[in-house]
Amino acid sequence: VNRPLIAGNWKMNGVRANLAEIDALVAGIAGADCDVAICPPATLISEAAGRAGDSGLMIGGQDCHTAANGAHTGDTAAEMIADAGGKLVIVGHSERRADHGEGDALVRAKAEAGWRAGLLVILCVGETEAHRRADQTLDVLSQQLAGSVPDGATADKLVVAYEPVWAIGTGLTPSNDDIQAAHAHIRGELVARLGPEAAGIRLLYGGSVKPGNASEILPLPDVDGALVGGASLKAADFLGIIAAAG
Ligand code: 13P
Repeated sequence: VNRPLIAGNWKMNGVRANLAEIDALVAGIAGADCDVAICPPATLISEAAGRAGDSGLMIGGQDCHTAANGAHTGDTAAEMIADAGGKLVIVGHSERRADHGEGDALVRAKAEAGWRAGLLVILCVGETEAHRRADQTLDVLSQQLAGSVPDGATADKLVVAYEPVWAIGTGLTPSNDDIQAAHAHIRGELVARLGPEAAGIRLLYGGSVKPGNASEILPLPDVDGALVGGASLKAADFLGIIAAAG
């Protein structure tokens, strides 16, 4: 059994006033039996990391560029996230894939950039509603993993998040059986490509995770944690999910 990771993705939400939620999390996770992370907007990484201190709350970025620096207006290098005190970075989120046309090869390069900077990488995969209707879910996951997981992926460097696009922000979730089937498939693909040690790569479920459903989803055998959007914005909700992991 892998140590659970409960990660929050604030997306483009949060200003300095919301850092009070970081303070509440720092207080609330003392003694938690899982790893906990928050990825706030880039503008807040430095101050959030300062407030998290050595509490065990990891702070991270939501995206990074592939290059370490250069003429890329508006982008953030993985090295800059690390320099700001970040410990991890999300790559390949479906909102990046949709809003910015990111494909698997770019996501793979971003994951490698995260590693180059010493960050833990949370790499997101997931099918659309159309894929699911066409019964293509597992095939799409296989394709995304083949194209976006770099060689050399190990459990200390990579976490994979399964986020069905149609479950994000909708209040909808797959059945527990469907979540387990997707995670078992992802685990099998990683082990087939990378070897038995890849079973230690943690697999997070993401998409409408709330305190109310976390206690059903988190105990599924191949679910090692959650990637949480809306319910990570308030410490009280997020702590409810963390409690379900421990
Ligand atoms: P919600 O929890 O708001 O559905 O978002 C999930 C997500 O996209 C996390 O990255």
